[in-house]
Amino acid sequence: MSKVIILNFPTHGCINPLLATVTELVKRGERIVYYCTEEFRNKIEQTGAEFRPYKGLINNYKLKNYDNLFEGLKRILEMTIDKLEYNLEEIRQENPDCIIHDSLCTWGKFTASILGIPAVNLMHSYPITNSSISLTAHSIPLLIKIGLYKFSNKFRKHDVKSLIKKRYNINLSISDVLINEEDINIVYTSKQMALSIYHMENTYRFVGPSLFFKNEQNNFPFDKLRDKSVIYISLGTLHNKNSDFYRKCLKAFSNKKYYIVISVGFKTNLDEFKNIPKNFLIMQSVPQQKLLGYVDLFITHAGMNSVNEAICSGVPMLLLPHHLEQEMIARRVEEMGLGLKMNIKNISPEKLYKYSSQLISDSNFKNQALKFKAIFESEEKISHVKASDEIFTYCKY
Ligand code: UDP
Repeated sequence: MSKVIILNFPTHGCINPLLATVTELVKRGERIVYYCTEEFRNKIEQTGAEFRPYKGLINNYKLKNYDNLFEGLKRILEMTIDKLEYNLEEIRQENPDCIIHDSLCTWGKFTASILGIPAVNLMHSYPITNSSISLTAHSIPLLIKIGLYKFSNKFRKHDVKSLIKKRYNINLSISDVLINEEDINIVYTSKQMALSIYHMENTYRFVGPSLFFKNEQNNFPFDKLRDKSVIYISLGTLHNKNSDFYRKCLKAFSNKKYYIVISVGFKTNLDEFKNIPKNFLIMQSVPQQKLLGYVDLFITHAGMNSVNEAICSGVPMLLLPHHLEQEMIARRVEEMGLGLKMNIKNISPEKLYKYSSQLISDSNFKNQALKFKAIFESEEKISHVKASDEIFTYCKY
């Protein structure tokens, strides 16, 4: 029996895909000490792992604007300093054999490196590596974006970077904050989503999607969807404060032949929407995985979890990515013939209606969606087993 310490970034999106693997590791007899914030205690204890609350002063990833990459990076760096300062010594005393962290958890990578023990990166997200970006034919706009952030004066001069160097002798690079790459990186989506470069790099293991955690809220009126052509719209949980976009959706589909379900998230007040047309249902949250089993089209921000869930349900997508990672996911989904990618910044009600109708009426999209559904579903059943095998092999238990 070995002792594994898990350090997780405190958001549902970072935690959910890891839960099945952790349950499997516990089942195999590993002793798992799982660090996260109190908010996630229940979810984590259900895996059988021993929960430990992070010590420190910064315990959430609350941003004013989730679309501002610089604000996000700055927050991650501040959390990294905080978590190292308040938790590193306690973790050292635990004398773990191995660290597991997720792909946003920079302090997880640094903890393993400072303690000199093996670490595995469990990726709820899509790998953004220098080579994957530069080898992607259509990568130039992405390179420009990366360059801008990388060389941004704000980032270079930011205190946190020099503090990390001074205190821990670590040269922080932008990729530490974006994906926290290790010698082994387990990606929770299908091999079908992988670019050829990941096979060549050989550190990325696409084990399949992990949909173990399900939002099972039971207030959703599924009977309203009966015999209707349904479009489901959601921008995920981080980038969903976008009333202008929801108003465009109202304009695009008002009194049209489709039944529209919109999940606007808890940061948007439902009172903002008056006189909602009869063919609309607007809620702050929906049981997405189950709902996808009833819909004909998903208009999505192309988050990794949402895309995995849509493919497992055989649903074509209109993709409106918000940042780099979602942009890469959306491009791959489009290449696979499962959807169309548009720019959310200049999407109009007319385009929304036109492309949605095309995606529903052109049977090629549905056929591709059904083909990939079969593959994704079978991979999903064993992704936690494959991930655990990889962890065992790498950490040489
Ligand atoms: N989700 C949900 N109900 C909603 C909106 C989202 O259950 O009304 C879930 C969805 O099923 C997915 C997650 O929230 O598992 C969103 O994750 P994703 O990676 O797509 O986007 P993020 O929120 O990280 O941007």
